[in-house]
Amino acid sequence: MEHMEGLCVTGCERCPELVESRSRIVNGVGPDDADLLFLGEAPGAKEDEGGEPFVGRSGSVLDDALREAGLARADVRITNCVRCRPPDNRDPTSDELSNCRGYLARELELVDPELIVTLGKVPSQHLLDRGVAITNESGSVVDARVGDASYRVLLSVHPAATLYDRSQREGFFDTIARAADLSGLADASDGQASLGDF
Ligand code: URA
Repeated sequence: MEHMEGLCVTGCERCPELVESRSRIVNGVGPDDADLLFLGEAPGAKEDEGGEPFVGRSGSVLDDALREAGLARADVRITNCVRCRPPDNRDPTSDELSNCRGYLARELELVDPELIVTLGKVPSQHLLDRGVAITNESGSVVDARVGDASYRVLLSVHPAATLYDRSQREGFFDTIARAADLSGLADASDGQASLGDF
């Protein structure tokens, strides 16, 4: 695919406004055969600076929830619907989402995760191709078709929602624990913990 080598996009200039606003293209991180993949919206300022998804305040919340579920960031893949930072942290437009969709479809096809967790309204709507009331639908498991394949998807609120509204924290942490379970990673981490007891 044009501008994509393996899992990495380089030199893409399909979205003129994003080419202006980005410092770099922020590709997904984590194992290329991860069982669990988190999908965010688009890089923010910290991600644009660091070149990695979810390294700002939202990323700390995600890291905390992963830890509580017995997982580490290195166990999972983390990527975004759009790989370049939108100006003033606005939502990506539908053109930008569709310009980047082929890269996402390819990443999903190569990684082939057991479970995708959509973090927030934008990635949930993008994968399901319908309106999503994320606060109500968070915790639901659905199937979504992307490219030629179908994936199991767990809908979640965005980790930033827990910063605006503390009452969403417990639900978010529960959803991430459920993701560890559904992807089969919870069992693997139990095994490691018990080995460490000897
Ligand atoms: N929010 C997102 O949706 N993605 C990031 O990478 C960081 C914050």
